This record gives sequence, structure tokens and C-alpha cells, in this order.
Amino acid sequence: MPKKVLVIAEQRDGKLRQVALEALGAARAIADGGSIVSVVIGSQVKDAAAELAQHPQDKVIAIEGESLANYDSEHYYLALRPVLDEVQPDVVVLGHTASGRDLAPKISAALDAPQVSDVVSLDVQSGDVLFKRPIYAGKAFETKRVLSTPYVVTVRPNNLAADTEQGGSAEVDVRAFDEPADVKTRVVNVQKKASTGRDLTEARVVVSGGRGVKSAEGFKPLYELAEVLDAAVGASRAACDAGYCDYSLQIGQTGKVVTPDVYIACGISGAIQHLAGMSQSKLIIAINKDAEAPIFEIADYGVVGDLFEIVPKLTEKLREKMA
Ligand code: FAD
Repeated sequence: MPKKVLVIAEQRDGKLRQVALEALGAARAIADGGSIVSVVIGSQVKDAAAELAQHPQDKVIAIEGESLANYDSEHYYLALRPVLDEVQPDVVVLGHTASGRDLAPKISAALDAPQVSDVVSLDVQSGDVLFKRPIYAGKAFETKRVLSTPYVVTVRPNNLAADTEQGGSAEVDVRAFDEPADVKTRVVNVQKKASTGRDLTEARVVVSGGRGVKSAEGFKPLYELAEVLDAAVGASRAACDAGYCDYSLQIGQTGKVVTPDVYIACGISGAIQHLAGMSQSKLIIAINKDAEAPIFEIADYGVVGDLFEIVPKLTEKLREKMA
């Protein structure tokens, strides 16, 4: 049955995130010939909205305001609320990202709607949408069907196909957001940590280090490998706890969830809490000196040996190949 779908398209520094197009792809499947409206929120999002409008849909709404420069659930929700009232969507789709996970429950509560979170695939069968999502920290999957509308869906980055339809000419409706006088919270400062290169959640290749890396210095060969592969660097919690790297690199149940094409685990044992964040990677390569390490149970390729010998050799070989 055709549905009215609202996409909340995420941007960062005014640029559309890949997950925005993945959410739009999901919306197109869910809409089943119905209507699609996208909304982009931030301080300067006209360009992102115009880029989005190249993908066929009914309308793109850009909400701009100085107080929307940094994500904050109160401001973003206040900006979005009139759009929810106006569009009256059957389905709202957004990314299962740090901000999406924060905003989605607010939307669900506002619409008194159920929420299907962390969707990794969807299957449309005669207009009926089946959502697949991991449960028990990725140990199992459930398939859900929502029996009524409205409902809210969050999609895990890097899992669903990004929308590729082009040639759209949707109207871009730019609206100004003024912070209400009675606002209860305000972001007064954001201190960004030094960038560690690629965004982990969107990277196609991740090189990840665990306690076996032994020190901050020990991460150097991993960064070198990552550079050759144009990859992001990740870590286990043990490596973060030990101070070898920043917590922003942590992958797992209490860290980031990644689904790259290739995940290279170096000196990581494969605890269930770590697997929760990476087990859906398309190809897993493990380097560990313990042949009994549980990571080998889920690895597609395993190398038993010392990472300090293997990783530099791998980097060297790849450099030769790419020269
Ligand atoms: P270890 O388990 O100590 O493994 C180190 C591995 O390195 C070993 O297998 C060893 O053989 C190998 N090694 C050592 N030296 C070398 C070498 N030179 N060359 C090759 N291999 C070598 N963990 C996460 O990662 N992410 C989470 O989000 C997370 N959340 C958690 C939440 C809760 C509530 C709890 C209780 C735990 C959580 N943990 C999480 C911790 C998790 O249980 C493990 O303790 C952690 O993942 C272990 O990290 P590790 O594999 O790096 O370390």
C-alpha cells in the first residue's frame, strides 16, 4: 500500500552523510509508490538539501538556524515538530547514528508510534515491509512487520543500498529556525577531538587494534596499513581502556557499530561485546598469535602470528601492488 514517508536526512558540516541516501533508499522501498518528503536540519544546509533534491521525491525541507549548528535533541526536535504536524507521515526513516538513535525515540513518543531500530535489511513483499534487525548483541536476527502506521525506522549505516535515482526536481523549501525563548537546553561549546581520519561508521575498510597492540606506539603500523587501504582505524574497548587510543575509536556493544566491506582485527580476542560492533562486516580478517582466539570462529581469513611482523609486511606488499 502506498505510504507517506518522511526522511530525516543527516548532514555533517553542511554535507549530506551517506546514511541520508541509505535512509532515502529505504524510504523509496517503504513508500511503495507513495510520497516522500525529506528534511535536512542544521545551520547551513541549503546545499545538502539541493543535492538531496536531485533524487526524485515530492519535497525537500531545509531547516536552518544558528542554534542548529550542533546536534541537540531539544533543538532538532523543536525544528522538526512542525514538519511532523504538516506532513503527517505514515513512516519516518532516519539513520541509526549517534544523533538518529537520540532523536528517533522522541519522534516515536510524539507520534505515539512504534519504532523499529537498527534495521540492516528490508524486504518488501506485496506492499508489506519486513525489517531485519540484530538482537542479543548481534548473536541473532529478528524479522519484524509493523501492523499499523505511523511508525519510525532507524537504518544501520552501511547496510542498505543508497538511493541512486537521479533526475529529481523537487522543490527545496528553506525555513529559518529561531530558538524559542523558553528553550531548556543549549549547546554552548563543542570541543572536537583531533580527527583520526575517516569516519568509522561509514568506512569501507576498518583496521582495528586490541590489547595485543600493547601501546599507543603499537597502533602506528595499523595507521600505516589504514593509510594504504584508505581505511578507518578502530579499537577494542581493552585497547581504549589501556589508553592506547581514544574512546572515539571503540567498536562494540558500548562503542560504535561498523559494517565495512573489510574488517581487519589485529590483536583482538573476539569477546562477544566486541563482536556486537563488527560481526556484520562483509569480510573479516583476524591476525592473532593465539590460534584458539574466538575471533577466528567468525573470521573469513585468519592469520596466526605476531601482528608486529604481519601488519608491516602486509602494508609493504599492498604498497608494492598499488605502486
Ligand atoms: P584481549 O581479550 O585481552 O585480547 C587480546 C588479544 O591479543 C589476545 O587474543 C592475544 O592472543 C592477542 N595478542 C597479544 N599479542 C599479540 C601479538 N603480538 N600479535 C597478535 N595477537 C596478539 N569490548 C569491546 O571491544 N567493545 C565494547 O563495546 C565492549 N563493551 C563491553 C560492555 C560490557 C558491559 C562489558 C562487560 C565488556 C565490554 N567489552 C567491550 C570488553 C570485552 O568483554 C573484552 O574485554 C574486550 O573486547 C577485549 O579486548 P581485546 O580483544 O583487545 O583484549
